[in-house]
Amino acid sequence: MADPKSQKFQTLTGMRDMLWPDSARRRLLVDGFVGLVGNAGYKEVVPPLLENLGVFRRIGEATDVVTKEMYDFEDKDGSRIALRPEMTAGVARAFVQHKPALPWKVFYTGSNFRHERPQKGRYRAFDQVGVEVLGPDDPDVDVEVIVLAWRFFEALGLEQVRLLVNTLGEHADRSAYSEGVRLYLESRRSELSGQAQETLQRNPLRVLDSKRREDKAVIGEAPRISKYLSEAAAEHFGRVCSGLDALDVPYTVDDRLVRGLDYYRRTTFEFAADALDAAQNAIGGGGRYDGLVEDLGGPATDGVGFALGVDRILLACDAEEVFAPPVTRLDAYLVDLTGGESARDLTHEIRGAGMSADRRFGAGSMKAQMKAADRSGARFAVIIGSDELVADEVTVRMLRRPDDGSHSDAANGGQGGPTDAQQRIPRRELIEFLRSRK
Ligand code: AMP
Repeated sequence: MADPKSQKFQTLTGMRDMLWPDSARRRLLVDGFVGLVGNAGYKEVVPPLLENLGVFRRIGEATDVVTKEMYDFEDKDGSRIALRPEMTAGVARAFVQHKPALPWKVFYTGSNFRHERPQKGRYRAFDQVGVEVLGPDDPDVDVEVIVLAWRFFEALGLEQVRLLVNTLGEHADRSAYSEGVRLYLESRRSELSGQAQETLQRNPLRVLDSKRREDKAVIGEAPRISKYLSEAAAEHFGRVCSGLDALDVPYTVDDRLVRGLDYYRRTTFEFAADALDAAQNAIGGGGRYDGLVEDLGGPATDGVGFALGVDRILLACDAEEVFAPPVTRLDAYLVDLTGGESARDLTHEIRGAGMSADRRFGAGSMKAQMKAADRSGARFAVIIGSDELVADEVTVRMLRRPDDGSHSDAANGGQGGPTDAQQRIPRRELIEFLRSRK
């Protein structure tokens, strides 16, 4: 039997560790999103990762997300539970449970889990940020959420994002349309791919999502939703489009856009990043889901929202070479050649004064410590040798210029005499020195 101590563990298939600087970039992206939607009056909701399986079943018995991809299992008490594959159902469940005042404008950030076939941009654990508005059925709410997502992509610097919008009509319109599509696809069943034929059994509208070449020819001639729209649904959609026009958000009406989850009604939309491969270019999407709250046992309540895929947005940023990782700059790096007590105390003091400081642990030569100081990206090395210790002073050496962060000549650890970039100051003046040079 293999020695358990020699077993090497790796991340599970489709799951990744995110290390710095990618993690810093992700954090910045999420913080930017939180700031943007906070300015629009959205408050955070943090639903649990695990829910009763039934919560997610409501999002569509006929969707792959529910039937094939869910991480569901039996809990210790025998109940069936699942890791969330998306956030909207949990948010709607929270709404039903807590009965907040309307309108309920919320945002969320967090991980979701789907047992998919992993590939670039498609993972089994992935992050989303999103918003939901529960209450008003005003088309201006649809406009508000779509424009928020659009402005978010703009703020990241993305330029190759396309917004696709569609309407699926009211519940009855969608049902009639679905039946129309089913009859049509049945009549051309033999031309469809095996996969599409199987999907047709369960959910005819999902066939319209197929990217396979043989399916595309058939889909191209499928009935269009516009013929099935009630007057009210058409009017709602008209108002959404005119809102986007008024706010200068470019879009394309794509009447094949049905979206994966079953609960969508009326407005649906998706954001495609053209800098990514077509198979993974969906960086976010959403729509109206009137009926979901009722399905979860609540009062009839309209809802609209979106979820954006953080991992894919970062890939799109890479592809467009925008949204570089943030540069973190320490204010000071302590180089202590006298045993470490001064480094211990001064890092503490500098941090306590609201600035950033780091140090090397363990004994190290001047050269090794200066190298670490330089690698840390700090603006100043604060050097304490035996002379400084006796005189109650420190030597501060500029490693990076304050204006552009470029390397200072003094950064190379050389032993040159006092320059503009290096000076000895009383230890008690260190905080003021660093503060005045921020
Ligand atoms: P959905 O909940 O399926 O509408 O997905 C919303 C967004 O989440 C998509 O547009 C993707 O950007 C992202 N997303 C969905 N599934 C995955 C996945 N398996 N891996 C990475 N991102 C995903």
